[in-house]
Amino acid sequence: MDIQAELISIGNELLSGQTLNTHGRDLGEALATLGLRLSRDTTIPDEVPTIGSSVEEALDRVNLVFVSGGLGPTVDDITRDALSELFGQKIIVHQPTVEHLKGWYEQRGRAMTIAATRQAQVLERATALFNSVGAAPGQRLELADGKVLFVLPGPPNEFNAILREEIMPWLQVRYADIKPDYVRYVRTKGIGESDIVTILENDNFQPLEVDLGFYPGKGKVKIRVSAPAENKAYVKEAEQTLRKLLAGHLDLFE
Ligand code: ATP
Ligand code: MG
Repeated sequence: MDIQAELISIGNELLSGQTLNTHGRDLGEALATLGLRLSRDTTIPDEVPTIGSSVEEALDRVNLVFVSGGLGPTVDDITRDALSELFGQKIIVHQPTVEHLKGWYEQRGRAMTIAATRQAQVLERATALFNSVGAAPGQRLELADGKVLFVLPGPPNEFNAILREEIMPWLQVRYADIKPDYVRYVRTKGIGESDIVTILENDNFQPLEVDLGFYPGKGKVKIRVSAPAENKAYVKEAEQTLRKLLAGHLDLFE
């Protein structure tokens, strides 16, 4: 079963070079451990119509859609409004989050403002996902067709905390039958990518049923050999062949 997910990162600062978007890397890596595949990573500006159309198109394509950013208290935080419009759902105040935030502010000797309360707003049919390191909760919206939309705050520590603590355990149960790909790495040094390819082509190296990825950097090349778990034997075979063909160029210390 190939379950695909898409990520939509929202924020002008991600497009203008102010902030490096790290969510794709973190989400892709986390999903892969469950055998789920991040198939598209899109970054869009803080604009209601763009948010609406991007989410709608992603939900047409895949089972799982992750949206990040724009859940804070400021005027550019419009993600809730865009989703409320798209799904025809009211925005409601999530009372447990208000209580949690009140406690948080009290501990710091500050009063909770109306602006701060906005962070406790969620879509009326969403499940709020506890944010252990920040204010706005994440949200899980299960749609009528079985597809699921996750809404997450932008700051990477909050995005990752909710992903790790709330979303991964839920996905693990839902997709318990799916096994992650079997992956092996072969690392080389002191030989360029094109020279490696020449060696492999001269030997007519075309392994069956496995995917190969070449990742060069700093005089080294990392070769990723992967396949669905049931094809583990093919991966092992391809790895052995690569190690034989590239003997003398292997980086054995990583
Ligand atoms: P907040 O309540 O902090 O405003 P938010 O959900 O509204 O959270 P944003 O306002 O979109 O999130 O972004 C908050 C901070 O997180 C900004 O400094 C932003 O640059 C950073 N951030 C947002 N999205 C990403 C991302 N995809 N990768 C890295 N940093 C991000
Ligand atoms: Mg914000």
